[in-house]
This record gives sequence, structure tokens and C-alpha cells, in this order.
Amino acid sequence: MAASAHELNRFLAAAKPSATYGVIDRVAARRAQGVDIISLSAGEPDFDTPEHVREAGIDAIRRGHTRYTQVAGLRALRETVAEKFRRENDLDVDWRQTIVCTGGKQVIFNALAATLNEGDEVIIPAPYWVSYPEIVQLCGATSILVECGVQSGFKLTSELLEGAITSRTRWLILNSPSNPTGAVYSRSELLALAQVLLAHPLVMVLSDDIYEHLVFDDLGFSTIAQVEPRLRDRVLTMNGVSKAYAMTGWRIGFGTGPTWLIDAMEKLQGQQTSGASSISQYAAMAALSGPQDFVRESRLAFQHRRDYLVAQLNAAEGLRCEIPQGAFYAFASCEGLIGKVTPAGLRLTSDEDVVNGLLDHAGVATVHGSAFGLGPYIRIAYALDDAALHRACESIKRFCETLSN
Ligand code: GLU
Repeated sequence: MAASAHELNRFLAAAKPSATYGVIDRVAARRAQGVDIISLSAGEPDFDTPEHVREAGIDAIRRGHTRYTQVAGLRALRETVAEKFRRENDLDVDWRQTIVCTGGKQVIFNALAATLNEGDEVIIPAPYWVSYPEIVQLCGATSILVECGVQSGFKLTSELLEGAITSRTRWLILNSPSNPTGAVYSRSELLALAQVLLAHPLVMVLSDDIYEHLVFDDLGFSTIAQVEPRLRDRVLTMNGVSKAYAMTGWRIGFGTGPTWLIDAMEKLQGQQTSGASSISQYAAMAALSGPQDFVRESRLAFQHRRDYLVAQLNAAEGLRCEIPQGAFYAFASCEGLIGKVTPAGLRLTSDEDVVNGLLDHAGVATVHGSAFGLGPYIRIAYALDDAALHRACESIKRFCETLSN
């Protein structure tokens, strides 16, 4: 491609495109060519949005709720969001301390863009969701990636946190249950991190709770502002309806935090996308305040799939997978495949090669762990029905068997 005479913004030029969307796009391109691909790549529930929520969206259109809303969201939705935080997270939230955005990603983007300056540091435990470091990069700040390997259950410890904090640290990003590992922080693990944070009053915490309702084996969910109320005035707790209510396409995320931060995020959003889709806001209200059976049923379905998938992955030659406690991702080590050769004669030298091999030879799309900051691993999203998951596992095992040394 010819180089353009026009220069890009330097922060954007240095940022990487989203690796998850990269795979999603590759799957779409292969399918458009008529190739049969089973996608274990996109992190989105395969279920339909619950009927009463879809009806609320249709009803909003019929009643003419199709105009701009307030930038930070309809007051009725913000009150519903505040009630959700009070009911489910023991956070004493007033609706003015909430904001509704176009997806959870915009909550994160708003918060970081509203507060970061060049030279500021953001601590991100690795593996991490692909977009955190790139959003930090877009804001001109620096990510401090702290490797949290399988030994610590892919989780940040108080020692690792203490060692990463400097006078430039502005934020710590926590994500539990985690994308890509499914790791869940217990109440006592969060308390240990909170102890460190109490000694560093300038460090803010962004708690990405988007997988809150997907915690398995009755382990229970905790969030840091709940377990340590003394941190409340410097925590942004974010969530959304995408994963809990199978509403990824509706694009509704929300958050609560100190009023100064919420106001700054609203100011930023008011010069950008303005309020989220009015129709989606009405649907989100129905999701958060209506019957919650769907949440329990989908959690049980995902737990059942997890059990099946992890057993299958551990039965595949060269793969090894811990049992994830939440979300709908398995993060499997593919170290045992590195150095092996595909039937087409290609030597697998990295997890990216493994992902390409699985796509080309097994018709299965996954995402390489190194995109999430830890290799050699593959992330497998098990948000698909039992029959497709069974086919995918058979193909993965067959692929592993066909490799030679
Ligand atoms: N969060 C999902 C994933 O990790 C959706 C894609 C994205 O926004 O990265 O697959």
C-alpha cells in the first residue's frame, strides 16, 4: 500500500488494532468464502437476548423513544443502575454517581481519557483483555504490564502490586472474572490488594466487572469497592448488560465512581458519541429490573460447557488447561505443541502459529494468548451450543494428533 502523505496521530499510529476483532473478521472472511469455521474466538454469549428485553426495545420504538437522551443516560436507567449496584454489590450509589455509555469499552475509554496524561502509568495484570493497554496507549500514557502466571492462578498478588506502583501510577485495572483466563478474585484476595492500595492514596482502581454473573461452583462474586469501602472514592466500578443478558449488540455499559470522575466522563462523552442508543437504554432497563432467571440459567449452561471443554482440552496431546472459575473462556497452555510440525510441513514456533494451524487445518478459530500478554497459550471462548462445542473439541484433538515432532 502506498504511504499516505497525511500523518496519523502518533498515539494511534503506535497502537495495535484489536486482536479479538482481528480474529472475528478473519472468521467472517473465511465464512464468506464458504469455509466452515467453528468460532471459539468471539467473547459473546450465543444465546438470544431474553424475550422480555427484546420486547422492551420494540416497545421503546413504538412509543417513539427514538430521540437523543441525556449524555450520561436516561435518568430512569441511571436510577436502575444505581439500584443494581446497591442490590448486587452493596454499593451505596446515588444515580448522579452513575454513567451509561455505548458499551463497556466506552466506560473504560472515558475514564482513562478523562484522567491520563503523558508519563502517567497504568498497572495492568497480564494476561489482560487486549484493549486495556491499547486504550492506555491511545491516551498517551504507559502500561505497566505485570505478569501473573499460572502459579498465582493468573492473578495479581499484593507483592506484585506493591512492586509495580511508582509515583507515576494513576490506575490499576482489575478484571474479575477475567478475560482471557476466567480467574476470579476472592474477597480475601481483593482485601490483600486493597491493603496495598490504602498506602498509595493517589492510585485509582478501574474494576471491570463485566463477567460478574458468570462465576461458577457457587464461589460468589466480590468487587473491590465493596470489600474495602475506604477505597470507594477512588474506584470506578464498571459493568454492562452485554455478557449477563446476551446483549452485546445493544452496546450498553455503565459505571459508578466518584462524582468528579463521572462528571469528567460525561463531559468527554458529550463531545463524542453523546447518549447511548435510546432504544437500547429502554431494553437495558428491562434487563436490569426484570426477571433474572436468564442470568442463572445461562450461568449453569456455561458451567456445564466449561466442564466438558476443559476435560477435552486436557485430553488433547500437547494442551494443558486449568479449570477457569468464571467468564466463558478457557486459557490453555499450548507449550506442548511448540516445535511440532503440521501435515502441511509448517513448524509451530509460537501460539500464533498454533492458532493459525487450528484455523487452517481444524476449522476452529481461537485467539493466541500472546495477544493477551501471555504465551504460549490459546484462548477458547466456549459461548456456543453443545453440538458445535463437541465438534470443535473433536477437531482440536484430531489436529493435535496429526502433528509430528
Ligand atoms: N470482549 C470480547 C472478547 O474479548 C469481545 C471482543 C472485544 O471487544 O474485544 O472477545
